Amino acid sequence: MKLFKRLSLLLAAALLLGVLAPGAAAEEGAPVIALLGPDPFCWPCGVPFEEPGFQVWDEAGIRKDAELRVVGDITVWRAGDYTLRYELTDGEAVIASAERTVRIVPQSLPEIVQPPKGTICLSFDDGPCEDTAEVLDILAKYDVKACFFIVGNQTKYLDILPRIAAEGHTIGIHCYDHRSYGMLYRDAEHYFSDLMHAQEIVREYTGQSAHVVRFPGGSLTAGFLAGTLPGGYEELYAMLADLGMREYDWNVQPESGEKTVEGTIIAFTHPRAPYEYAVVLQHDVRRFSVKALERMIQWALEEGYTFAALDESFPEIHLLE
Ligand SMILES: [Zn+2]
Repeated sequence: MKLFKRLSLLLAAALLLGVLAPGAAAEEGAPVIALLGPDPFCWPCGVPFEEPGFQVWDEAGIRKDAELRVVGDITVWRAGDYTLRYELTDGEAVIASAERTVRIVPQSLPEIVQPPKGTICLSFDDGPCEDTAEVLDILAKYDVKACFFIVGNQTKYLDILPRIAAEGHTIGIHCYDHRSYGMLYRDAEHYFSDLMHAQEIVREYTGQSAHVVRFPGGSLTAGFLAGTLPGGYEELYAMLADLGMREYDWNVQPESGEKTVEGTIIAFTHPRAPYEYAVVLQHDVRRFSVKALERMIQWALEEGYTFAALDESFPEIHLLE
């Protein structure tokens, strides 16, 4: 009893000094929960949450075997304050509890830099796939860097992601599951859960996070999602920014014509006006587009254009604007 009193006093002192998080009950003889980490506990938006830990004390000291029930949810893709409640039960009743505030903090983004006139950013959607290696070979031959907006559930081909990153290209997120726009854009919960799932895949395979995003169907199609948010598109883009992400549609779409090799080359090599800042949409899953790539690159280099891998420092392109 004497020892426990001393521990209680120590704990009370620790609480007063702010060493341990407040909220621990201090009833005589009852166990006490001390939460580790600062209060509020800050955590970056979009990163899977890791519990900072706790200690349970009773008369005998720290109870290493104590298992707490954690009540409350954290939505890591939405910045804000969340409350987690830690409860110790004796099997039925709660005998000790504590609360902590988890603050999901927006990530930072770099300043936008206007690229020099004549910059072309190639981008490939819907991969990785069988032909992604061929695209990489062509890009490597001309030392051209590009951006790949990947689909996370292309499980069979994900092994190529480390190569894409190692060769200096950008890995962006298209989505995890491309099958149904209706499901994907149903609400923020569906969209951002899918996005986080794809981000996990990128991290797992490359050790890095993606910072560029392309909506499946483009921002126009994502209007279904924007319509579910009180702040519409502005809110949607702000939520992506909190995750350290910018969204890129395209302003050159060479595949839109005949869907042939020649048609794609002709569309790309005959712009209405010289390209200033071109974000080109292609798909590594479209064979004719992959076949057109080498001649597109050759033409652009001859014309004096410069290729760059899109990243989050480039000006966003939204087809609605
Ligand atoms: Zn797509």
